[in-house]
Amino acid sequence: MAYTLEGETGSWEVVCGLEVHAQVISKSKLFSGASAEYGAEPNSQVSLVDAAFPGMLPVINRECVAQAVRTGLGLNAQINLWSRFDRKNYFYADLPQGYQISQFAHPVVGEGKVEVTLPDGSTKEIGITRLHLEQDAGKSLHDQDPTKSFIDLNRSGVALMEIVSEPDIRSPEEAGAYLTKLRQILRYLGTCDGNMDEGSMRADVNVSVRKAGEAFRTRCEIKNVNSIRFVMQAVEAEAKRQIGIWEAGGEVVQETRLFDPSKNETRSMRSKEDAHDYRYFPDPDLLPLVLTQDFVDGLKTHLPELPDAKTARFVREYGLSAYDARILVMEQATADFYETLAKGRDAKMAANWMMGDFFAALNRTSTTIETSPVSAANLGALIDLIADNTINGRIAKEVFEAMVETGDHPADIVEKKGLRQVTDTGAIDAAVGAVLTANADKVAQYKAGQEKLFGFFVGQVMKAMAGKGNPALVNEALKKKLA
Ligand code: ADP
Ligand code: MG
Repeated sequence: MAYTLEGETGSWEVVCGLEVHAQVISKSKLFSGASAEYGAEPNSQVSLVDAAFPGMLPVINRECVAQAVRTGLGLNAQINLWSRFDRKNYFYADLPQGYQISQFAHPVVGEGKVEVTLPDGSTKEIGITRLHLEQDAGKSLHDQDPTKSFIDLNRSGVALMEIVSEPDIRSPEEAGAYLTKLRQILRYLGTCDGNMDEGSMRADVNVSVRKAGEAFRTRCEIKNVNSIRFVMQAVEAEAKRQIGIWEAGGEVVQETRLFDPSKNETRSMRSKEDAHDYRYFPDPDLLPLVLTQDFVDGLKTHLPELPDAKTARFVREYGLSAYDARILVMEQATADFYETLAKGRDAKMAANWMMGDFFAALNRTSTTIETSPVSAANLGALIDLIADNTINGRIAKEVFEAMVETGDHPADIVEKKGLRQVTDTGAIDAAVGAVLTANADKVAQYKAGQEKLFGFFVGQVMKAMAGKGNPALVNEALKKKLA
């Protein structure tokens, strides 16, 4: 079912396109050797180029270009062997050059596409219009002093990729799914850490509304939204605002807006500037960016396996459902953990342990795959102890909890706590006999047709054996005695 919003005049369709700014992972900035690392003392990572001292010349960082090309390849996009840097002119207190070096008419990456998966499991393709490289600006700090603002230029000149989507997005959910997928691809590629809290990925959200079958109407752009949830909320809030305007007989004017999550509304920031307002022109300090096909092919050969391919392989090789496979490939580290675990073991059982007890433990203890006290090797050893009948499934849960607490190897925990499964049929028969004798009334009911009581007997025998009885043997012994 297509997503629509209901107004007084009937249903409205939402149209949305996203411009995502993704900070490139690289040691140094796009045109200078200063460090691009996040979180340093203000103004401790500023070269003369970043501070725009007179006579300083930019020199392109080869690794940043490689990162943009890798990203383009990961987005199934056209790589332009010839591209160019332009100056985008505007004044900002934290933009010492008075212009931003960007790419306007000739971006390094052209059209591509991303397949997103929606919560109901269906998929949709979102077109990529372009990806270009540009410099980030510095940062104004307004909360340090009651009367003054300060400028931190550490971020000035850091490389950004601006990734522009086609207006193919039709609901808040699709916007969320697109951003989630884009972030996942960037993280797999190692080209952006996708950390929206630190601002290394942020989105400008373009929204318009229309009646089914109409051409696009005027859009508004909501600037710098810094979480996936806020993007989804902003799409809906802005669409509703525009519907209100159209239905009151008004006209939506193209403008730049801000989203206020505390009020769940957008508000006007400034009227939208057009490209010609920026007086774009080719940067005379830089030559066109010319790549060889060999350079691009070399990067392509070394791309990691990306989420879609990995999901398909997990379904094929491990017999997982597409749903389970998608959860396990969400992060590269999770996928690697799973493959270590599944290797030489029951793949479905490995998936169940990971997505059940293991993920729950990560949540509960606020740890990640990387910091988890339970390693893939140890979780694998636990599965092996179940598979070779050393312990039963129920005791395995207890052993797992001890592993989370201590980080110990499961075999050590089993020995120390005496949790080995009892397969000695003499001991099992004795326990079964005792339980049936103590519950003569229930045995009579069972024999009179109350077959549900079988579960009760199993429970009692297991309890008598401190949970350590082999379930299959206990069942067998009970069946024989009750027959
Ligand atoms: P600009 O560079 O001025 O921001 P673009 O034409 O590059 O404008 O478009 C920017 C973004 O706006 C793109 O992501 C595009 O998909 C989206 N967009 C364009 N038209 C519409 C529309 N009518 N409704 C919603 N989004 C739109
Ligand atoms: Mg824009």
